Amino acid sequence: MSFEELGLLPELLKAVADAGYSEPTPIQAQAIPVVLEGKDVMGGAQTGTGKTAGFVLPLLQRLARHASTSPSPARHPVRALILTPTRELAMQVHESVQTYGKYVPLRDLVVYGGVDIKPQTEALRKGVEIVVATPGRLLDHVQQKSVAFNFVEVLVLDEADRMLDMGFIPDIKRILAMLPKERQSLLFSATFSEEIKKLADSMLKAPVLIEVARRNAVTETVTHRMHPVDQDNKRQLLAHMLKTSSLSQVLVFVGTKFGASRLAHYLEKQGINATAIHGDKSQQQRTEALEAFKNGSARVLVATDVAARGLDIDDLPHVINFELPHVPEDYVHRIGRTGRAGKEGDATSLVCAEERGKLAEIEKLIKRPIEQVIVPGFEPGADFSGPATRGRRGRGAGNDEPREKREPSRREPRESRESREKREPREPREPRRVEPAKPKYPKLDFDPSKPYEPKVGLPETATAEPKRSHHRPRRPVPALLGGLPKAEPEK
Ligand code: AMP
Repeated sequence: MSFEELGLLPELLKAVADAGYSEPTPIQAQAIPVVLEGKDVMGGAQTGTGKTAGFVLPLLQRLARHASTSPSPARHPVRALILTPTRELAMQVHESVQTYGKYVPLRDLVVYGGVDIKPQTEALRKGVEIVVATPGRLLDHVQQKSVAFNFVEVLVLDEADRMLDMGFIPDIKRILAMLPKERQSLLFSATFSEEIKKLADSMLKAPVLIEVARRNAVTETVTHRMHPVDQDNKRQLLAHMLKTSSLSQVLVFVGTKFGASRLAHYLEKQGINATAIHGDKSQQQRTEALEAFKNGSARVLVATDVAARGLDIDDLPHVINFELPHVPEDYVHRIGRTGRAGKEGDATSLVCAEERGKLAEIEKLIKRPIEQVIVPGFEPGADFSGPATRGRRGRGAGNDEPREKREPSRREPRESRESREKREPREPREPRRVEPAKPKYPKLDFDPSKPYEPKVGLPETATAEPKRSHHRPRRPVPALLGGLPKAEPEK
């Protein structure tokens, strides 16, 4: 299959050739014709699959029909809205719009928070057809009346699962309510939870499902391993792993912003070039950290899930979970950065006793046990063989921005490994392999190997609040306040 066969305009084919692409990726081959036909799409694809071109190219083609060279702002209303959860992803998608749209006279703009709003406002007032935005900042512009959506023809929701994790769904619903009902909508998500399906049901009309990887699936070429270790020894184990190996370009995931900076600082002190990327860093700092990691001057990039989302780093071989994610789907996202395009990759997790519940949930999700390897000198304490505590789930428990903001208090290690080593030096031993636990998989209410089918004919209330009971509370508040009306007798 070639790009020509997809029926793209010569201007787009030229831009694709300039980008050096010889043939469409599977998601592009499937999505481009469907989007060109004007149909809604529910796309199951992770970053790295080429999904951005999969929606940007046909979107450009659909808008190109009415492209105008007039300087008048009125001739350049917002006609396509692309929403992304993070500024990094917004920047990347915008870059793609510019790359693929360079021969089409359409105006584009990216708007995200954390930077001066004024230049964005001025650009919006001059008129732009394609707006790539994070939801919060877009709503700021709505409030300022610097943007109107009356002429939006296409809406793209990118990384919808991440939007959900980050608590953006109310913002998305607010934006959806402002858009024309007659429009094309595309939703992309790496994972399909029940909530995502509900969102899709509420915003897509007879969507075509396009999936390039099984949902919640991890690439076959990634080796998964976990090292059981005491929480207090994790930093030392990580430094040991980095010092005793030639691993380069290692992406290390932590749960909090503070933890990211602290760990990068610790690694630096250990003589390991490391940098951190998280939500509190300025855009400039994030860009510099990413650049240092890409060009190899930083061997390790310590990142929170939020900051790492949408990082476009080709061929990333090693991912280390310094802490397991609170939401098992995030494991899939994290690992999605390695083993791309059939390349080998490895995912190593440092797991302390308290995290075994989360580990079990991850194993259930990825449908495979993770090999456990104890690193000599870092054997976990006795509490590792005790009963596991279940990982918490749901909003607020994930490694998301709100959680990063609520920095949890963290214990300082009781004693450093070095000082313990001095007291009781250990003999090096062969790594001890522990038989992987065989997890029991729960019964799913859908078949994960089958494509998602939207519920047809469900009433609007399918996504509404659960029905409240009609029974009067036995002790109504007025009764407590003054006996009005009479409280029902206790049964
Ligand atoms: P995405 O999943 O959209 O973030 O794309 C991941 C990477 O794949 C980006 O660096 C794109 O430039 C690249 N890419 C997209 N489409 C193609 C293609 N057809 N051939 C080669 N590379 C591509």
